[in-house]
Amino acid sequence: MGNVQILLRQHVGAPCAAIVQAGDEVKKGTKIATPTGLGANIFSSVYGVVEEVLEDRIVIRPDEEQKEEFVPIEVEDENDKLALVKEAGIVGMGGAGFPTGVKIGTDLKGGYVLVNAAECEPGLRHNIMQLEEKTDITIRGLKYCMEISNASKGIIAIKKKNEKAVQILRDAIKDDDSLTIHLLPDIYPMGEERAVVRECLDKLLDPTQLPSAADAVVINCETLLRIAEAIEEKKPCYSKNMTVIGKLNGGNEPHVYMDIPVGTSVGDMIERAGGIEEPYGEIIMGGPFTGKSTTLDAPVTKTTGGIIVTIEFPDLHGAPVGLLVCACGGSEDRMREICEKMNGKVVSVARCKQAVEPKPGAALKCENPGNCPGQAQKCLQFKKDGAEYIIIGNCSDCSNTVMGSAPKMKLKTFHQTDHVMRTIGHSLYRRLTVSKQVDQLPNGK
Ligand code: SF4
Repeated sequence: MGNVQILLRQHVGAPCAAIVQAGDEVKKGTKIATPTGLGANIFSSVYGVVEEVLEDRIVIRPDEEQKEEFVPIEVEDENDKLALVKEAGIVGMGGAGFPTGVKIGTDLKGGYVLVNAAECEPGLRHNIMQLEEKTDITIRGLKYCMEISNASKGIIAIKKKNEKAVQILRDAIKDDDSLTIHLLPDIYPMGEERAVVRECLDKLLDPTQLPSAADAVVINCETLLRIAEAIEEKKPCYSKNMTVIGKLNGGNEPHVYMDIPVGTSVGDMIERAGGIEEPYGEIIMGGPFTGKSTTLDAPVTKTTGGIIVTIEFPDLHGAPVGLLVCACGGSEDRMREICEKMNGKVVSVARCKQAVEPKPGAALKCENPGNCPGQAQKCLQFKKDGAEYIIIGNCSDCSNTVMGSAPKMKLKTFHQTDHVMRTIGHSLYRRLTVSKQVDQLPNGK
């Protein structure tokens, strides 16, 4: 194992401040950084010695021998579950990184804890595998969340295609009237927070509203696991579940890893999964839609869900390209990066008209995730601006609508996820082939 690099910012909010120095010995679970504003405690994920404290990270040289034991978290009142969650440094492990202690500290007045088990990004498998293999502790995590936030209902939102996990969950909750399952269609983006609220509660929130406006919180299923570990074992949040997939020696099947020490390098994870099968296009940290390109020496954080090695990019030989940006896909910068890697020249950029900035400069949010407002106008713009190709980052429904107009205008279409989908043998995002409606289980069970 190489050096472990633990970033001081792994959450929404301000970076944490280091409380260790070079030369300090640390154990698994030693607190090494604390928040300076909104944030969450950070712990060492290994036994070892602090090598360097840099502006943005703490570098630890791990000991050769790594014991399972960890330093338990300490709070004034051991029965205070919210205090345990806060002290454990848990954040939204699905990628959002919002401090969980702040989120579930809201009084939901008998409302809902909605479990985001959509695992919407294609190729990722670790959330579903957790539900299948760590069912009981995940459900206990949900019950703790409901108790802390004063919610009377827990709803697990999961895609219908995950039949085995749905059946296991169904058996596990059958005697608990407070818990139900909501089946989601296999379209992108069902895992967007407000999409989960809309699908489960039939309430469409504005892009500026939080789920609390519907008396709900949305919690990723790995976050539930970490909550249960903090409450039952006093375990700090220093490990991460993830999927490594792509152009790897041995094939393109997903490799699922549980409890990887935060700070492990992307390169170490790829080696564990067999190593890169050269040549390759890029390495992505996260999912195909919202992930970012990364490097072998980048460290895994509390929010890393996927590491993907892709095939090489097609070469557009400098052809003019229009970019159609979605709130739930890559940012404009990411789309430009992909265009550059395809050797295209950006001549026009448009946003889906439902992609809005909730406040100036903030990340885009969709007004109604996954329900297309029509894209013909955007295709007309691209044509007028001289594009021959378009790269779209749209949801399933909008990609389908693009395909209703772009080919007629002789615009050749790529989706920003094409190189990933081709790598993992997934169908490309073009035409919608699944129904947006899903029959629910009787009584949600
Ligand atoms: S409607 Fe537009 S902004 Fe919303 S998810 Fe679809 S493409 Fe993205």
